[in-house]
Amino acid sequence: MSRPVSKVREAKLELYRKRGKIHAKASSGRFNTLRWAMVWFTQIIFYGTCWLNWESDGLSRQAVLFDIAHEKFYLFGLVLWPQDALLLAYLLIIAATALFLATALAGRVFCGFACPQTIYTMIFSWVEAQVEGDHLARLKLDQSPWTARKLLLRTTKHGLWFVIAAWTAITFVGYFTPVRDVLAALPGWQVGPWEGFWLIFYCAFTYAMAGLAREAVCQHMCPYSRFQGVMFDQTTSTVSYDAGRGEPRNRRQQAGKTGDCIDCNICVEVCPTGIDIRDGLQYQCINCGLCVDACDQVMTRIGAPTGLIRFASERELAGRPQPQGWRERPRVAVYAGLLVIFAVFGTLTASQRSLLLVNVQRDRGALLRETAEGRIENAYTLNLMNLAEAPRDFAVEVQGIPGLEIVGPREFAAESGSIRPVQLTVSAPADSGLRGIQPIEFRIVARQDPASGQVEKSSFILP
Ligand code: SF4
Ligand code: SF4
Repeated sequence: MSRPVSKVREAKLELYRKRGKIHAKASSGRFNTLRWAMVWFTQIIFYGTCWLNWESDGLSRQAVLFDIAHEKFYLFGLVLWPQDALLLAYLLIIAATALFLATALAGRVFCGFACPQTIYTMIFSWVEAQVEGDHLARLKLDQSPWTARKLLLRTTKHGLWFVIAAWTAITFVGYFTPVRDVLAALPGWQVGPWEGFWLIFYCAFTYAMAGLAREAVCQHMCPYSRFQGVMFDQTTSTVSYDAGRGEPRNRRQQAGKTGDCIDCNICVEVCPTGIDIRDGLQYQCINCGLCVDACDQVMTRIGAPTGLIRFASERELAGRPQPQGWRERPRVAVYAGLLVIFAVFGTLTASQRSLLLVNVQRDRGALLRETAEGRIENAYTLNLMNLAEAPRDFAVEVQGIPGLEIVGPREFAAESGSIRPVQLTVSAPADSGLRGIQPIEFRIVARQDPASGQVEKSSFILP
């Protein structure tokens, strides 16, 4: 005897909702296209950038490299040092604020379109679908006993997943150790201990997160999914079901008696996190828009307007217009304001960045020395830090007292990225008419870049 239709349908839905692995039905549409565009965009950058080289001073190096051993971060023509940590801090703050702003405007769009977990889950799921077939074939395979075919399909899938995970790990490590060196060291496992650790860890991490854990990461592990609700308000546009239009749902539509939802459940079948958006806003929803694509196609098929499921705010669903002024959207205004402020400060910091750092210390052991020629001498230590990518020669001048001059050499070479300590003796005439502690200035200029001078204040002691 066959089971009643509703029970069969309910059992089928349960497969998507709670039990075991979620095998989402493949979907198409504008949000699906946008998601794949993000996959291509981000992964071409990630897998490709580490292979680019940059010519500098006749030398070729990897264009983007976090050289931890030498405490440098190469970004094409830019070389950042630990002293530039403030710039990095600005960059991180700007990225975080932009994420908050995007969340306040459009909910979890980052999760649905740009999060690495989403991107790699999409890639791994695509591989799975190519090997094992569509969602129904995969469900069937899951429930079937182990046969030679199942073993072959599973081995192929896991093998391909491993290759992608391994290549992702090599690429990741390749941003910290030149990727060509990493690749050359792999045969015979000649990599260093840290490279070896990160290769294994990142490979296993990618494999486990994107292949095995998938949506469970978004639902149970990701802390951002838990606290981003505080950035939502009534004007935040999230993927929503228009219950006013859709209910009462019914598979057999009756004009005037039922809503537009025909209860086909396709929106549930395509959902990568296995939820039913018709149950309302849920923390598991990553705002991927796949249910929007699916429902739009259903609506088109039955001749109803699209948008039964759409990006909409609570206000819009309640039939109130979306506010345009910032006063009614305080969260958006605050995040946008912070974004502008941090972007301005970050740009100012970057524009004032100097490739020379100087520290001047007066020798406090011997306050002053009087010479036979009737001059007064003070001793100083200058630390010249060359942040340029090439060796540079620095000319040092001193001013502030009539007749003030440097005794001995006034030009000093410093290697790239090195600190050159310099002992300097500065002399002033004893009969200058000045007494006690007098302010003076050291001016340091790179011969290779005369436009960039740096002035450091200090003091000179006279009797
Ligand atoms: S896809 Fe649209 S019509 Fe079908 S169940 Fe979902 S909301 Fe209803
Ligand atoms: S409910 Fe819709 S938007 Fe949310 S995760 Fe599922 S398919 Fe994506």
